[in-house]
Amino acid sequence: MIVMKFGGTSVGTPARIRNCAEIVLERADQKPLVVVSALSGITDELIGAAKNALTGEVESPFRAVRVRHLEMLEELGLPMTLVSGELVRLHELLSGISLVKELTPRTLDFVMSFGEQMSAKIMAAVLRKMGGQAEAVASYDLGFRTDSDFGKARVLKNETYEALQKSLAGRQGVVVTTGFIGKNHKGEITTIGRSGSDYTAAIFGAALGAEEIQIWKDVDGVMTADPSFIPQARLLDRMSFAEAGELAYYGAEVLHPATIAPAVERDIPVRVLNTTKKTAPGTVIVKGPCLEPPVKSVVYKEGIHLIDVFTPRMLSEHGFMARVFNVLEKHRVVVDMIATSEVSLSMTSDSASGLEAAVDEISEFAEVEVRAKMAIICLVGEGMRGQKGFAARVFGAVSDAGVNVRMISQGAREINIAFVVEEGDIPTAVRALHKAFFE
Ligand code: ADP
Ligand code: ASP
Ligand code: MG
Repeated sequence: MIVMKFGGTSVGTPARIRNCAEIVLERADQKPLVVVSALSGITDELIGAAKNALTGEVESPFRAVRVRHLEMLEELGLPMTLVSGELVRLHELLSGISLVKELTPRTLDFVMSFGEQMSAKIMAAVLRKMGGQAEAVASYDLGFRTDSDFGKARVLKNETYEALQKSLAGRQGVVVTTGFIGKNHKGEITTIGRSGSDYTAAIFGAALGAEEIQIWKDVDGVMTADPSFIPQARLLDRMSFAEAGELAYYGAEVLHPATIAPAVERDIPVRVLNTTKKTAPGTVIVKGPCLEPPVKSVVYKEGIHLIDVFTPRMLSEHGFMARVFNVLEKHRVVVDMIATSEVSLSMTSDSASGLEAAVDEISEFAEVEVRAKMAIICLVGEGMRGQKGFAARVFGAVSDAGVNVRMISQGAREINIAFVVEEGDIPTAVRALHKAFFE
């Protein structure tokens, strides 16, 4: 069997949904399980609707979500009643928020979940209308369990794997399920983090021992850079799990950072494909190693804080680093990059929440400086490992472009070279690197 995931953009219009359904039906002999995201933009609209409900405004944001889905149903020739249950419940929920004037992370997850619930129903109905046998089942009704960390819940893998295997065994036809959402042990709806449907697909793929996890997008596959930013970006036909993991971690929107893990555990290839080029092979992500081309892609992550910690006594002070990291841990500040010298420790973090409190606490025993609006630029490729000269080429290109580099790091596996610049320097630095390595 295969798992096929369609993102928001791919199910954003009636024509696109039909196209996706066609892609699924053409692969019926491979026994696809389909994972869908909410229609493009709907998750954002639902978040907006929940926040507006807090201020007492329910009707107009709700109407926007309702109209979008009803127009979709009409254009697809599907009954208006298909998602009326979801719409009624969503309206009740928004009214409840406006009444009690409270929006907890738990309630927000509940609100967001309607996007995927409705898109799954629509996709299954289109498949049936086009002659297929299909049913929509919410992921949690198939056994998709998470913890209760609303907004970024962790999947309880072992339990979920077992439940999915049981509930899907022997089912006929195509099951269309919801990405992004799950339930905790109390039966409350959770979400696993924005753009999480890729990860949902990987969990299903791993649980069911899929031959392939297909992530269908509006791009040709994984490219040498974000094509919406670098029009000269080229398609990569193959990359390794390790490379894809780095790429996602450092911000390439094309894959959710957690996607790769379940696929790696069970060694299942992940293929990124383009819905508008149905027969093109896309990019396949495999165990590897994939040494050619040595450099695969240049990515960047904005909204980074650069944190410099200084102490004149650092070297002699046993446990200094542990102290710093304990504070960061306490305030749940996630650190990406680290560099040290005798008297200073530099780190980057993209978590704004908690950072201020952590910095206050660290200031009690060291000097701290934080610079916001920084970016990490990262070159990924496992062919760079053990090869001389890549760093020189990277920093030569960046310095020729007149960009000031604030901090440099290379992971132990030597499959990336990452450095920090000011956000405003992203376009110049990325263009210079793409030119130096791929054009
Ligand atoms: P989905 O419809 O599944 O949510 P996304 O919009 O999240 O899809 O991801 C696809 C987008 O990722 C593309 O439109 C592209 O602009 C962006 N992207 C960023 N980096 C890359 C890259 N290296 N290769 C391909 N696409 C990339
Ligand atoms: N609909 C969710 C979001 O917009 C999940 C996803 O698209 O993968 O974040
Ligand atoms: Mg996405």
